[in-house]
Amino acid sequence: MLVLCFLLIFSVVAFLYYNFFMNILQEFDTIAAISTPLGTGGVGVIRISGEKSFDIALRISDRQTLPAGKICHGWILDDDNKIDEVVILPFKNPNSYTGEDVVEIQCHGGVNVVRNILDVVLRNGARIAERGEFTKRAFLNKKLDLSQAEAVDDLIHAKTSNFAIQSAKNLSGVLAAKINEIKGDIFETTSRIVAGIDFPEDVAEPEYSYLIERFGNSLREINRILDCAKSSDILRQGIKVAIVGRPNVGKSSLFNALLNLDRAIVTDIAGTTRDIIKENLDLGVAVTLIDTAGIREDENIDKVEEIGIEYSKQSAQDADLVLFLYDSNSGLTEEDREIFDIIKDKTHIVVANKVDLLNGNVLQEEFQNTVKLSTYSKDGLDVLKSRMKEIVCDFSPEDTEFITNKRQQSCLLRCKESLERALFAAEQEELQDMIYIDLKSALLSLDEITGEVITDDILNNIFDHFCIGK
Ligand code: GDP
Repeated sequence: MLVLCFLLIFSVVAFLYYNFFMNILQEFDTIAAISTPLGTGGVGVIRISGEKSFDIALRISDRQTLPAGKICHGWILDDDNKIDEVVILPFKNPNSYTGEDVVEIQCHGGVNVVRNILDVVLRNGARIAERGEFTKRAFLNKKLDLSQAEAVDDLIHAKTSNFAIQSAKNLSGVLAAKINEIKGDIFETTSRIVAGIDFPEDVAEPEYSYLIERFGNSLREINRILDCAKSSDILRQGIKVAIVGRPNVGKSSLFNALLNLDRAIVTDIAGTTRDIIKENLDLGVAVTLIDTAGIREDENIDKVEEIGIEYSKQSAQDADLVLFLYDSNSGLTEEDREIFDIIKDKTHIVVANKVDLLNGNVLQEEFQNTVKLSTYSKDGLDVLKSRMKEIVCDFSPEDTEFITNKRQQSCLLRCKESLERALFAAEQEELQDMIYIDLKSALLSLDEITGEVITDDILNNIFDHFCIGK
């Protein structure tokens, strides 16, 4: 038993030492990466962070000094060879993105130019940065809280301009400020409870009615954020829209028209069976548009009907919105009706295509609110787009007040459960020691959102999703 205890204590101490030592090591490490996408462009940026940043930049350039906060012009040299003419931006800690000494080198944006410069930087004392390591250092150096660090990733990966704007709100600290406000309220009530427990002779325990009111307030605020969770998820992930209909009604043509793409993108190569095709469309919400036209009528002639229906079934199954397309010129056929039966319980828009072939004849509408369209003349395309927008962007301003991700939502749900237990206990006038325990866990859950309390695993999981150079 004694040996076991000793082993346990020894491994805990060893683990703590290892972590401590690794942290110290990391602080002295200087990292570098290409921060712009690899490709041909106007400018490429190489970022260096850590205490050797300035030394490295001076060693590899023709500059004698690098005054912090000044824009410096110079050449990057590899021995005596000139690599590129650059602009160098030196930042002294703590006034930098990471909170450390940072040097950013802006060079010409060619794949090999940026690689050559990174290579020189690495040979002169930096190591290549891991995914998200610059932002992780910014978090560890308290330049950003965790919700802001996550917003950086959201901003970079935003599929729509709308979501980019929402993410920028979190980067500016909107979510963090709200969480800190709720935390402050719970903390104040917790302090009053603790004072009553620790100094019963001097401080009265707070009234239960007061506790009920406070917990109710905090719960309302938590719910306000959670109420935005659904729209947050939609804005973040987007929605799936499937174009469904029998072969030849114009699904691929509509797909191209909505995306404003050339037909070549969805060219059918004779002899092959085309898969379901997907493309992204920005309608304020990121839409993944799915074209289910996958077969050629001249092949598989016996199976054409069967396969068309099967494809419609498959893609309609996971679609959030279905565009049901039929040929207005030939009118609704049995097969059209069969396909409509499959999708009728999903959110859908009925589209009558090829109205240019009606030659002035009035369309007999079989469904209410049918959108009349011609993918040839583009008549009706704007009507269809705005109908789609009405459905996919069905948010009020309150729905998008707070943008959260799944991790933050799960912390909020745990906080809510703890607060509900505390509220119930207060209503039952239970011992305030018990209420205190629930309030502590409510606070811990909120701390996880901003990152005051976080395990290495969660932290690594978050930053591993970032790109290198961020
Ligand atoms: P899918 O099999 O449902 O994907 O249909 P396609 O997009 O391949 O179109 C089938 C045929 O209908 C093609 O010859 C298109 O050029 C034609 N088509 C598509 N939309 C229209 C339209 O609005 N008007 C006319 N007149 N023809 C169209």
